[in-house]
Amino acid sequence: MNGHHHNGDAAGKAVSYERVQIVDDEKRFTPDLTPQIEQWGLHNAGFDYDMVAVFGSQSTGKSTLLNRLFGTNFDVMDETRRQQTTKGIWMCRGKGMNVMVMDVEGTDGRERGEDQDFERKSALFSLASSEVLIVNLWEHQVGLYQGANMGLLKTVFEVNLGLFGKKTADGRNQRTMLLFVIRDHIGTTPLENLKATLTADMQKIWETLSKPSELQDRKLSDYFDLSFAALPHKVLAADKFESEVQELRKRFADKSREDYVFKPAYHKRIPADGVAFYMEGVWEQVQTNKDLDLPTQQELLAQFRCDEISTVAVTEFNEQAKPQRRPIESGKVIEGLGSMMRSWRSGALVRYDRDASRYHQGVYKRKRADLVAVLDSTLSPLFLGQLKNLHKSSLVAFKSEMLDGMRGDGYNFADIVATARDRCKTRFLQGAQEALVEDTDWSYDDELNLLKEEVRSLADQCRRDETKKMVNVIERNFKKQISEPLEIALSKPEPDMWDRVLTVFRQTLEKAESSYLAKAKSFDCTDEENATSLATLKKRAWLTLRGKVDEQTTDVAFLTKLRAHFEERFRYDEHGVPRVWRPADDIDGAFKKARDQTLELIPVYSRIQPLDPSLEYTLPSETSDSLTGSDEFDFPSTLIIFTETKILDLMSRFRRDADAYYVEAKRSTVSSVAQ
Ligand code: GDP
Ligand code: MG
Repeated sequence: MNGHHHNGDAAGKAVSYERVQIVDDEKRFTPDLTPQIEQWGLHNAGFDYDMVAVFGSQSTGKSTLLNRLFGTNFDVMDETRRQQTTKGIWMCRGKGMNVMVMDVEGTDGRERGEDQDFERKSALFSLASSEVLIVNLWEHQVGLYQGANMGLLKTVFEVNLGLFGKKTADGRNQRTMLLFVIRDHIGTTPLENLKATLTADMQKIWETLSKPSELQDRKLSDYFDLSFAALPHKVLAADKFESEVQELRKRFADKSREDYVFKPAYHKRIPADGVAFYMEGVWEQVQTNKDLDLPTQQELLAQFRCDEISTVAVTEFNEQAKPQRRPIESGKVIEGLGSMMRSWRSGALVRYDRDASRYHQGVYKRKRADLVAVLDSTLSPLFLGQLKNLHKSSLVAFKSEMLDGMRGDGYNFADIVATARDRCKTRFLQGAQEALVEDTDWSYDDELNLLKEEVRSLADQCRRDETKKMVNVIERNFKKQISEPLEIALSKPEPDMWDRVLTVFRQTLEKAESSYLAKAKSFDCTDEENATSLATLKKRAWLTLRGKVDEQTTDVAFLTKLRAHFEERFRYDEHGVPRVWRPADDIDGAFKKARDQTLELIPVYSRIQPLDPSLEYTLPSETSDSLTGSDEFDFPSTLIIFTETKILDLMSRFRRDADAYYVEAKRSTVSSVAQ
């Protein structure tokens, strides 16, 4: 036997039946009980285990009995050295049974007049956890009312009242079975008689017990069920002893028997994985002689165990959640994140519930709420990250869908926007709804609103770009269309020249405007945007006109025009036939007339001014080009082609040209005379 050393092979999953000293002779509680319960394979047994303890004077064969009944290996007193000095409490798992067996070992204080304290403490300790208390006594001790056993039982009863006097939380009395095992039963006194004697004795003890006033009328049977067994002499009737022990064993092992001892009512409802912590707490209380308050012990136990169970659940949960953190932080949308999160979360809660729900309900529920908060605080950033990434990717998809849609001609911008916007919203909503976890207050509304806003502003931007492009195209067409008619109109310097110019301008501009409006319909442009675009178009058209005018009125071009006009009148007659001057001709008169008529053109060109006032064109001066952001322009100044000084300069330059023609004309008459 190597029970004192933990050198048993605990490797592997095989169940060990090693015993453990839970309280040593210096009254210290072992730290090894939890690992030992694990090695016994009882850690996950929940309530599906039983606990039995033994009481009785020293050397009455207690350990021997337990070893026979449960296959345990408690120390039996050596026959050769009838001396036992160790003291302590041992525990072992019963072979092939979910039973934890406690053996109390020690000096018989009552007989030696010492250390009754340990007896009392181990009684407390055993009662706080055991369902069945085996009271072991020799047959000849029965009826010895003054004997040590009776004193011990009195202790047991007192202790029990202190522990279980009040009802349990669920309203029942905590019951315990007292199983009297009468040893060395010779048989001359039938068991029935022994039973009667013991029962009467118990009753007497109970009555003489000093009970707290509120428990005065409690009966022994309120707390204890008494049961009896007798065993023959181990040495004198060895065979009979063995077979009777085997018979007694059945009462612990066979649930189907009517006299099965481990009735549910006796169970102290400490989950197996909490036994060690609970017993240690009880022992500490007992040791320090504090009032052992079992409800408090149970609550402490529950707090400790629920925390432990919760920690295990959280650790497993974190291992599952951790690999997803980085991808989310790096902007990835994780496929099926919601279902993963739901499964991690419910997995953790199932694990917690499975183990923790056996403990004090208030504590269990409180710690569960804490656990949920911890889980959700880990999941929430994943959820928010997923939303953010969904938002981003939906927006990217929206953009590229818009671009795809606008490739080529003949698309309907409004339709493209509407389709892309719907798809974007659906994509986001699908992802966001998938990522939700029930029983949380999570919401994706904010992110959705943000996304909607960004989609809107993107679409607006796109529309503005599109409008800009369209206005540019229309402007180019306008230029093409107006170029030739303008040149023609401007080359004929009649007084109504501007009327013709402006008429052409108006007609072409109207076409441009209606072509804009037709296209803008599909753009969902606001009225304001349309107004701005049209204003821009008008202004650009006007500047085009003005540019064309400038082109036609550069100094060289304009002087050429003037010369042509003058020549037509001076060098050709009214029939378009070139003149040959004769001396008698009124060269001076013709010259003056042609010159003055030509000079009259300069003021006509100098200002855009139709004869018909209804053709006058105006633009608001403050109009700035919203599409190009160019500076504002001053419309009235665009009407002026030549300033006053320019007019004088042009006049004098033209006069010089005209004078040259005059001189040439004169010379031609002289030369013709000379011929
Ligand atoms: P414990 O101190 O109560 O645990 O007693 P032990 O089991 O150590 O046994 C004490 C002594 O009693 C040992 O020498 C055993 O061999 C002996 N013994 C055990 N069972 C019986 C029994 O049923 N009858 C008798 N007469 N002796 C027993
Ligand atoms: Mg013993």
